[in-house]
Amino acid sequence: MEPSQHPPAPAPANTPCAWHPQTAAVRVAVPRSPYGENAEALYLTSGYVQPSAEAAAARFAGDEEGYTYARYGNPTTSSFEQRLAALEGTEAAIATSSGMAAILMLCLGLLKAGDHVVCSQSMFGATIKLIGTDLAKFGVQSTFVPQTDLDAWRAAVRPETRLLLAETPTNPLTEVCDIAALADIAHAAGALLAVDNCFATPALQRPVQWGADIVVHSGTKFLDGQGRVMAGALCARRALVDETFLPVLRSAGMTLAPFNAWVVLKGLETLQIRMQAQSATALALAQWLQAHPAVARVHHPGLPSHPQHALAMRQQSGCGGAIVAFEVRADTPEQGRVRAFAVLDALRTLSLSTNLGDTKTLCSHPASTSHGRLSEAQRQAAGISQALIRISVGLEHLDDIVADLSRGLDALV
Ligand SMILES: *Cc1c(COP(=O)(O)O)cnc(C)c1O
Repeated sequence: MEPSQHPPAPAPANTPCAWHPQTAAVRVAVPRSPYGENAEALYLTSGYVQPSAEAAAARFAGDEEGYTYARYGNPTTSSFEQRLAALEGTEAAIATSSGMAAILMLCLGLLKAGDHVVCSQSMFGATIKLIGTDLAKFGVQSTFVPQTDLDAWRAAVRPETRLLLAETPTNPLTEVCDIAALADIAHAAGALLAVDNCFATPALQRPVQWGADIVVHSGTKFLDGQGRVMAGALCARRALVDETFLPVLRSAGMTLAPFNAWVVLKGLETLQIRMQAQSATALALAQWLQAHPAVARVHHPGLPSHPQHALAMRQQSGCGGAIVAFEVRADTPEQGRVRAFAVLDALRTLSLSTNLGDTKTLCSHPASTSHGRLSEAQRQAAGISQALIRISVGLEHLDDIVADLSRGLDALV
């Protein structure tokens, strides 16, 4: 085994891959202290006591495994990394302080001035800003292409292209891209494919099974799943994690706090049942919305009317995911905004919140919040109309979600 500067916690008794994902989610990486605790321990320490000067020298040189300083590693954080890697089916994972910190680590690790990135134009807004604006200052070039147009991806590739970056399904319109096809385009160009798996999570979709090289996560969303902490991670081959991303962590310090790692580690235990339940409720809600006379259009990959329904079912274990978006009927953008606001302001149970991936159902108006900084023309190109409402479906009973949305929607008919 390669000497690792990122010492993993002691290996679990069984090999993770021998387990079903449900078992891995609760059993991978439970190193027990001499106290024999059953639940995962939370190690809060910024430094580590070295057994000898010789060992300290070997650990700092990377010749021996062992923790040296909390910016580089922590046993609780290592457990989260190993468990997430087991769920994604990658050799390794590296945790970061947020999802955006993971995307920054991805770019700092892989790119230099002159390199080129091809990125879906439907990526998370902060990702587009980071790559298109912030990294452009350092000479990184980028091209943004329509998420589902494979010819546009192919045409955008150049000799300097190092990375293709996609997100599937996207926020808020749940557009799905073909991961295997994008992996082929990336690899033919000698580039890597990274997929932001925030919306589907490994409970529904494992991008590396379809050929992706790197999986990007905001742990803030469904991995925690209960809206408590911020976290992020990259999942990839061991060599990529140890040689490309770990050096960035050591120098740039986007380290995940151990407490947050512990919260998300415990969140992973219930990921599968939460995603299945929330996805099933989301599909039923999407069907109900589709039949409502005040609703013009519904976006959910589980609906046969979704443009990539067949691909989504194949790629996402037959589940559409927990995000639904819909447009209220309106004749003008102004009326759309007024009507969408009326539906949101009539809510009494569901939360008006721009976050997503919580056990509580969250509703938002993307055009005036998450996508508020875009010009109206950019918003229209992205399909984010003023009449659009996004719902991150939680664990409430479908009937209570429907009752809360009915109040505002029925008043529009
Ligand atoms: C929230 C989000 C991010 C950024 O994650 P943070 O934890 O908020 O930094 C990245 N990608 C997607 C798809 C997201 O929803």
